Amino acid sequence: MGLNVVIAASEMLPFAKTGGLADVIGALPGALEGEGIEVTIFMPLYREVAAGGFDINATGITVNVAIGNRVIAVELYKGRHDKAVIYYLRCDEYFDRSYLYGTDEAAYFDNIERFTLFSRGVIEAIMRLGINPDLIHCNDWQTGLIPVYMKTLYSSAFSNTAAFFTIHNMAYQGVFPASSFDVTGLPYSAFNPEALEYWGQINLLKSGIVYSDIVTTVSESYSREIQTTEDFGRGLEGVLAERNDRLFGILNGVDYDIWNPQTDKHIAANYSNKDLKGKAVCKKALIKEYGLKIRQGEPLIGIISRLTDQKGFDIMAEGMPAVMKLGVGVVVLGSGERKYQDLMTKLAKTYKGRFGVKIGFDNALSHRIEAGADFFLMPSRFEPCGLNQFYSLKYGTIPIVRATGGLDDSISDYKGGKGNGFKFKRYSAKALTRKVAEAVELFKDKKAIKALRIKAMTEDYSWKRSAVRYHELYKLAISKAQG
Ligand code: ADP
Repeated sequence: MGLNVVIAASEMLPFAKTGGLADVIGALPGALEGEGIEVTIFMPLYREVAAGGFDINATGITVNVAIGNRVIAVELYKGRHDKAVIYYLRCDEYFDRSYLYGTDEAAYFDNIERFTLFSRGVIEAIMRLGINPDLIHCNDWQTGLIPVYMKTLYSSAFSNTAAFFTIHNMAYQGVFPASSFDVTGLPYSAFNPEALEYWGQINLLKSGIVYSDIVTTVSESYSREIQTTEDFGRGLEGVLAERNDRLFGILNGVDYDIWNPQTDKHIAANYSNKDLKGKAVCKKALIKEYGLKIRQGEPLIGIISRLTDQKGFDIMAEGMPAVMKLGVGVVVLGSGERKYQDLMTKLAKTYKGRFGVKIGFDNALSHRIEAGADFFLMPSRFEPCGLNQFYSLKYGTIPIVRATGGLDDSISDYKGGKGNGFKFKRYSAKALTRKVAEAVELFKDKKAIKALRIKAMTEDYSWKRSAVRYHELYKLAISKAQG
């Protein structure tokens, strides 16, 4: 019999997304089913999920979840994605809001309550529904309490169930004041530095790491980097290094049902590695959409990103005068921190007609950029995995990346025809500019750039390979939990 696995996550495509986590949770279950694994998913019923027109129905089942000294009734809703069953936890007080975690300015003040309710609600729901999973796969700090509940308050019900935790980004740890500890209802023994305490505070990411049988992150390089310095480990590098024997990296895959220029409904014309004509149509449409004044024959660089410190906008902005001198056009789609919104808007003014910016989160536009750009720039300071470099490859849009985390693992430098993109090492405007110059140089050689595009489009980063690896590590986690 195949494994019975529960996946808990705070976002998932097509229901709710702020970043790569949603892409992963939207695609991984389908690939796991290909491995013969039965998957049940749990996520919150946010306002945008309820309003999204999905086929989601009330089950009539309610679970009572203790939050501090309150007991809150959580209703279970049910839907499907591929073959997997999804349960949505409905608690309007916490999830019927405009955003998932907070506004651009600030996180919601009661996130500890919201995600304690979610985590404990998942545990209660699994028991109420009689699922009996072999393993619970938790993702990021929002689910970091689940492994603790499994190993403490609910240990008798979950003695044969493995706790598996995936870190999608160390930069978000869910840190809350010690005064919130009562919200969790956990025994005080859990509030110590060997467990979920972190310098006198509660750290939910740490809690997931410490209490799980196996911990993974989304690339091999990132799994090594986060054990080294604070830049990567964000204060948990020691905790991770200590658990080196149960920490693994599995590169994310791509959902080619969503990201495929041959079938993509969002783009001006479809194309494939056999016939690239449609890509030129997409480029023309993108130039027009952004109101740029560049010629079709000039190289166009795309950027789609959350606007945060992680993504390298400081070196990009510093390098822009030199990059623009190379005769390129740039289109940016981004949402996030105000200071970077302002920076992008300023660049658009300075390089009017050659540097286009749209602030906001726009899925259809992100497809049009992947299809219409010649190059895709990702100068990240750190990058757990990154997804846009994979999408770019598939769309024949050559990635220019910094060698960190998953970018380092998936992109190799062109170097006279060997690699699949352009890659620079040093986090500096100079290194970035030099690499863009190399890319622009290659762009002038029509034959060579076409050959590189075709090669990139032919590479396969589908989820199958990663699902095989998850399957192996699920089995290892179960043997540890039951051993
Ligand atoms: P992260 O999770 O750090 O944001 P990833 O590269 O792993 O980075 O995933 C980001 C995902 O979110 C990609 O699918 C990307 O296309 C998408 N994305 C990021 N910003 C935007 C935006 N402003 N509009 C539309 N999609 C976006």
